[in-house]
Amino acid sequence: MSRATNRDELLDAALAYAEAGWPVFPLRPGTKRPAAPNHTAQTCDGSDHRCHDGHTGWEPRATLDPDRITRAWQHRPYGIGIACGPARLLVVDLDTAKGDQPSGADTLADLEHQAEEALPATWTVGTPSGGRHLYYRQPDGSLLGNTAGRLGPGLDTRGTGGFVVAPPTRLRAGEYWLVDDHPPAPLPDWFRQLLTSPTRPTSEVEPPAATTDRTVPPPLRCERVRRYVAQAIAGEQLRITTAPEGRRNHTLFCASVALGQLVGARVLDEDLAEQRLLSAAQTHVAVGAYSHTQARQTIASGLRTGTGEPRLLPSHLITTGAHA
Ligand SMILES: [Zn+2]
Repeated sequence: MSRATNRDELLDAALAYAEAGWPVFPLRPGTKRPAAPNHTAQTCDGSDHRCHDGHTGWEPRATLDPDRITRAWQHRPYGIGIACGPARLLVVDLDTAKGDQPSGADTLADLEHQAEEALPATWTVGTPSGGRHLYYRQPDGSLLGNTAGRLGPGLDTRGTGGFVVAPPTRLRAGEYWLVDDHPPAPLPDWFRQLLTSPTRPTSEVEPPAATTDRTVPPPLRCERVRRYVAQAIAGEQLRITTAPEGRRNHTLFCASVALGQLVGARVLDEDLAEQRLLSAAQTHVAVGAYSHTQARQTIASGLRTGTGEPRLLPSHLITTGAHA
C-alpha cells in the first residue's frame, strides 16, 4: 500500500468517526501515542499555544471538526485515536491469553455465564495483537472511566480519560481492522454494574496487581490539580460540618461519593480522602448524631460508589498519559 493511499484511507476514516459523533485526534504514525501535545501535564511550560490557559491534553484536543481533521490528516498519515469519554463510548478491550492467564474473551465468557446474559453484538475492532475492542454506548449521565484487569485477566475497559486506536491505523505489528459493523449497542446494565460495584465479581484467578489502575499513584504533582482537589475537599468538609439534623448521614455519604469520584479520577489518594471525611464527620460523632463506626461505614460505602464513577475533570486540568 502506498503512503498516499493509506493517508487518504486514514483521513476518510477519521472524518467518518467524527460524523458518527466520535471525537478523534492524531497518533504519531506507527505508534499508539498521541501526536499532540508532545509533553505531559507535569512538564507543561505553557509554550504550546493551546496550553496558554493551562495544559490541554489529547482528550480536549479531540475534535469532530471536519476542517481540522482534514488539515491534520492531509499533513501526515497519522494513526487515529478516538477519545472514548467525549464519544460517550465504553470500549471493552479483550486481550489475547498471556502465559498461564486466560484471554480477555475467556474472562468475558465467565462473566456472561455468571450474569446469564451475553453482551450484545456491537461495533468490534480487531487489534494487531489479535485482541478485540467492543464498542458500547455509555448510559446517559454516567462517567465510566478506564479499568485494567478489574473484571478479570485480559479484560480492560476504556471510557472517560481513555482512548482507543481505530482502524485503519497501522502499527509495525499490523493493522487495526473492523470485525463487526453492527452499530454500537447500549452497554447492558449488568455490565455497567460490574464496573461500578464496590466489589469485584468472584474470580478464581486474581489479576496481577500491576495491571490494576488503582495501584497507579495519583498524578498529584500538577499544582492546578492539587488546588482543584484541595478546594473540593474543603467544600465537602464544609458541607458535612454544616449538614442539618436529619440529613447528616446522607450528606456524609454524598460528600464521600464526591471525593470518591476524585479518587476514581486518580487525583486524590483514597486514604487521604477517608481521613479528611472522617475528621469532618467528628463534629457529628461528638454530638451523637452517629457513631464513629457508622461514619466509617458510610464513608467507605460512599468512596466505593464514587470511585466507580470517576469525575471528568475540567478540560484545563486533564492530564495526559492514558494508554490505548
Ligand atoms: Zn501543556
